Order: sequence, then structure tokens, then C-alpha cells
Amino acid sequence: MTASAFSKWLVAAVIALSAAGGASATEKERLLARDGLPAEYVKRMLQYQQALEKLDDSEQAKGIYRNTTLWGPNYPKLRVCFFEGSQALRDAVANAASEWAAETTSIRLDFGKPGKRRSCQPDGSGAEMQIRVSFSKDGYWSHIGQNSVVFAAQNEPSLNLGGYLGITQLSDYGKGTVRHEFGHALGIEHEHQNPKGGCDDEYNWKRVYSYLQGPPNNWTKETIDWNLRQASGEDLQLTKFDRKSVMLYQFPADFYRKGAKSKCFVARESTRVSAGDRALLALMYPADPASRIAAFKKNREKFEAIWNKGGDAGTKGVMFDAVKAFFDRPGTKDAPAEED
Ligand SMILES: [Zn+2]
Repeated sequence: MTASAFSKWLVAAVIALSAAGGASATEKERLLARDGLPAEYVKRMLQYQQALEKLDDSEQAKGIYRNTTLWGPNYPKLRVCFFEGSQALRDAVANAASEWAAETTSIRLDFGKPGKRRSCQPDGSGAEMQIRVSFSKDGYWSHIGQNSVVFAAQNEPSLNLGGYLGITQLSDYGKGTVRHEFGHALGIEHEHQNPKGGCDDEYNWKRVYSYLQGPPNNWTKETIDWNLRQASGEDLQLTKFDRKSVMLYQFPADFYRKGAKSKCFVARESTRVSAGDRALLALMYPADPASRIAAFKKNREKFEAIWNKGGDAGTKGVMFDAVKAFFDRPGTKDAPAEED
């Protein structure tokens, strides 16, 4: 399996540089080591990924697989719950994440009412919660889109904001981290992996590898590639490269061949949802329900065509019916207005 093939599933392995309170350079270096989705999540996705690659590892297929992370049209809203945290902290997170709200899209984040933000059921019982926030794991990470409900159980977090417990007000940096992670939860991947950015050609790879392979990160070459290499696959939802994206990652200037002059270098991460981010979300979840349904149907047909190539061998290989898991979800369309 190629590294780029991995990247589409593992871009959620967030390279956490930002701290809730605004990180110093030393803190940033330290935090790099805490990157990534929990190993058990990665393992599940890996198994699935390997089975898919056996069916078809063409560039076109990769784009189709990747589009399965988009929330289906049955999800006009995504229910968010919290495993921990005071109402003040939950309000702060909800307020920061709500910057993603836009009339140009047909998807919204539903946190419950201010001061009464939802709690996740520790045993995962009750209505499906699409985004399950924890503050107690290491680092900052989120599953990408529907992976939040396919590759993590209801009693497991799908998004983590490590170190936020006890905080009631977020710094701009903290808000930016919230927006970045909820961007992933909405289905958006890293901007520096946007094939239209061409950042692959901008990195000083020797420096990148030697830095990240060393302590405190100790990443393997494969892990680095998963997190940094350009996403592959035709058929992707793409907008032009956006340096203001909250999904763009900030690295030291010497990670780039042209240093601070590189088009992929930014002096600071954006902490705001950019116009480009909004445009991408509108492309993924158009306000017009018919367009969203049509795009989803097309993705389903393409995915099914590949899936069916595998017959029983394919489905047995991953031990779950991926078509059902990604395309037949009940969603939140017919859910009661407020169950809590
Ligand atoms: Zn990220």
C-alpha cells in the first residue's frame, strides 16, 4: 500500500501544534509528539483500507473511497455531545465551532441549547451522536466526517481536545483548534494535502523527515507521509488552495525549500474559518437538497461498482458492509427536535 493511499484515511491524524491557551515554541515541539488518532482507530481503518485497495487501487477509486467520508443527505444536522467538561467549556467550544454555520450549506452542528449542551452516554446508548467530544485524551484530533460513526463506537470519542478541561474561555488559538477539528468532523481534510496546493514540491523533505523522525515525535517515514503527503485520487471535492484556511497546517520555515517564501508556508495558523473553507463546505453540502442527494447517489453508485467486484471476499475482508455503513445510515432527518 502506498503512503498516499493511506493519507486519505489518516489525514485526521492531526498534527497538533496548537495548545488551548496559545502555545510557545517549546510547547509546540512537545505537542507534535502527541499527534494522531488513537492507535485502535487507525488499526480499524487500516484493515478496511487494505481490503479496499485489493478491490481497486486506481487513482479514480481512491477519490471514490475518500468521498464516503461525506455525511449523507440524511444528515441535515450533526448531533454533538460531550463526555466531560463544564457547561461553560461546552458553550465555548460550541460558540467557536459555530463559525462553520452558513446558509450556503445544508449541514449544521447541533450542540443542544446554550447552558444545556448534550452529554454523551458513557455506554453509548440512546440516539446516534455523530460527533462525540472528549477533553481527556492526548492531543487534538478528529475522525473525518462519517468515519466518526463508522470507525468509532458510540461510547468512544470521535473528536478530542486534550487539555481543555477546566478552561471556560478559549484563546483565539484555542478557538482555531476547535474550528480545525470540527472542520475534520464535517468531512474536511488538511489544506496542505490539497492536490491543488502543490505543497509536496515545496517541502524540504530531508529536513521534514529528519525533524519528525527524531525525538520527541519519533514518527516513521510512513506516518510522516500519511500526515503530510498530497492526497491522491481523482474525483475529489476540491477548491483552489487557500492559505487562509483553518485547515492549513503551520510548519517552521525550514520545512520548506524556499523557507518563508514558500506558497505553503504561513507564519501563523489561521484561527478563523476562511471564505475558502466556507466555499468548500458549500461544495460538499450544497444548500439545495436535490444537488446533495444527487451527488451522494453518484458516489454510492461508483462505490458499489467497486465494492461488488470483491464479492464475498471483499466484504469478508473488512468484516462489515461498507455500502450499508456509509450509504444507508438513518441520519438525523427524522429525529425528534430535542431529545434531552
Ligand atoms: Zn488536522
